[in-house]
Amino acid sequence: MDAPPHSGDGGKNALLRALPSIEQLLRRPSLEPRLAGLPRARAVAALRLAVERARTRLLSGGPTFEDADVDAALQTFSTPNLRPVLNATGVVLHTNLGRAPLAPEAVARVAAVAKGYSNLEYDLDEGERGSRYAPVIGLITELTGAEDAIVVNNCAGAVLLVLAALGSGKECIVSRGELVEIGGGFRVPDVMRQSGCRLVEVGTTNRTRRADYEAALTPDTGLLVKVHRSNFAVVGFTEGASVAELAAVGRARGVPVFQDLGAGALVPLRGEGLTAEPTVRMSVEEGADVVAFSGDKLLGGPQAGIIVGRKPLLARIKSHPLTRALRVDKMTVAALEATLELYRDGRPEAVPAWRLLSQQPEELRARAERLQTLLAARGVAARVAAVSGQVGGGAMPLARLSSFACILKVEGPDVFLDRLRGAEAPVIGRIADGEVVLDVRCLAEEELGLVAEAVGTTRQGSRP
Ligand SMILES: *Cc1c(COP(=O)(O)O)cnc(C)c1O
Repeated sequence: MDAPPHSGDGGKNALLRALPSIEQLLRRPSLEPRLAGLPRARAVAALRLAVERARTRLLSGGPTFEDADVDAALQTFSTPNLRPVLNATGVVLHTNLGRAPLAPEAVARVAAVAKGYSNLEYDLDEGERGSRYAPVIGLITELTGAEDAIVVNNCAGAVLLVLAALGSGKECIVSRGELVEIGGGFRVPDVMRQSGCRLVEVGTTNRTRRADYEAALTPDTGLLVKVHRSNFAVVGFTEGASVAELAAVGRARGVPVFQDLGAGALVPLRGEGLTAEPTVRMSVEEGADVVAFSGDKLLGGPQAGIIVGRKPLLARIKSHPLTRALRVDKMTVAALEATLELYRDGRPEAVPAWRLLSQQPEELRARAERLQTLLAARGVAARVAAVSGQVGGGAMPLARLSSFACILKVEGPDVFLDRLRGAEAPVIGRIADGEVVLDVRCLAEEELGLVAEAVGTTRQGSRP
């Protein structure tokens, strides 16, 4: 027998010893209806969890095991760890919440190829092995004006791959104002080192000129690198060299220019409070030889890193071993193809991220008022107010999206938000000035009822 956890506490030990065994619980008549029809492995796992929780509770002085513990454990097992949440943060490309929601067309395409076999790497005309990138290359080149393209797992991977394929063992020139951290510890200088490039820094934090690049060029220069300031801004006494200037410098010496564009919009975005963002086509037309951008930021597709550029350079990238390590799966190709088709067909508003960013203040106000009404029906008073939101995903750092929210005055807003996250349909909100803010920008019309439901239940639970 185990040593008693609290010697001298005889009552508690007796209770711990009295905890039921899994075998006993499996035979307990009162649990029969709850466990009926469940796979035995699931029932056993839930009972173990229930008893474990009761033991922990007993040790901290709480009540002993009861049948309700089994209900809670079964609930835990029937809820997937990864599941949908209701985004009331107002941040459209929220990296923690899965970034861009996919268009129904993309979701349908994913489902169609996921459940069976597909021609992912099979040329149906020739009856022989094909390229998994073939379905999207034509669309990408058409939409960006680039000569060639490839898709990898994400933009961070794309940057690593381009640097490794084109800059390894050579000098790569970057402005000191662009040696940035993109997020999640992904730092440009570290990635350069990792890829085997020799980093050559030019200019200063706030000012770098064309002449700085020219002066740093040597016969060992492999790449001129430009990192788009997508997640921060330098304002005031600043100067930078444009892609066109870098291209002129590079062309004179036969050195390619690589731009890490990050957010990578395919078409200009229109929306209240948005700032200007270069499109991929602009970067290509300005003269960047290779451009990398994300599939799930402003493009609004699946997680992916897209590389476009000149054919001979793309050929070197495609034959680099990292390409195989970073390759995308069939579901990514399917979702990306369907999303790109929406752009090709001139329907960017069918891409959810695009639509969410371009909503008009009047429609947001009307939606906030509908949420307010639904909340009132559950006895929750909220006021509707104009708020300012962010694009997210490290895109357009200075943009202040004009949005509308339902604002709730509650005791302990932190605890309230914790409880909202624990709702059956978890709601993610934020706190401003000690009040709970539920921004409606990213909430679909049909989600408003679920949000009101979660808030109503949480409100009841938090009443004294
Ligand atoms: C976001 C970003 C990346 C990384 O893109 P992921 O798709 O998140 O891997 C790289 N570079 C820039 C400039 C970015 O903004």
